[in-house]
Amino acid sequence: MRYQKKLLFLFTTFMILSVFIMYSNIISQPKKDTSVKKDKKELIPNAEGKIVLTDAEWKERLTDEEYHVLRQKGTEQGGTGKFYHNKADGKYYCAGCGYELFDSETKYDSGSGWPAFFKPATDSSVAEIDDSTLGMRRIEVKCQRCDSHLGHVFDDGPNPTGLRYCVNSASLLFKPDSTEKK
Ligand code: FE
Repeated sequence: MRYQKKLLFLFTTFMILSVFIMYSNIISQPKKDTSVKKDKKELIPNAEGKIVLTDAEWKERLTDEEYHVLRQKGTEQGGTGKFYHNKADGKYYCAGCGYELFDSETKYDSGSGWPAFFKPATDSSVAEIDDSTLGMRRIEVKCQRCDSHLGHVFDDGPNPTGLRYCVNSASLLFKPDSTEKK
């Protein structure tokens, strides 16, 4: 009888512990955030240094808004983008492939409703292409590495370049500079 009690005690303890471990595993699972697609597979440039994905791969990788702007040359509604009023110091990267595109030092308030920069981060950050859609002659700005649409460049910008790179927030990722200053 005593032996049976001991067995029962051990069994009960084991069951309680098992349930506890299972429960702690369940609650430690990260919550899914559907607004930003995370855990993206690393992109590897091809021999020409370009990132080339199929349309299905882009769709899988991007949010609906990012896909519309980056891959279908869409334009986000003016004044609504998350970086329009961003004044923090840091760098802006391509939301498609993570390529460095712009520096906060060249960002200014154009009053247009979209983030504006007077020049790209480097000479090879963006590609500029003639665009005659919507009955206008404009110059489209694309990510040099993955060909994703970023926005347009106009010649009404401030000094020193006189250029205005008018870019969709949806095309950008922002990484603030480290706040540690020593
Ligand atoms: Fe890109």
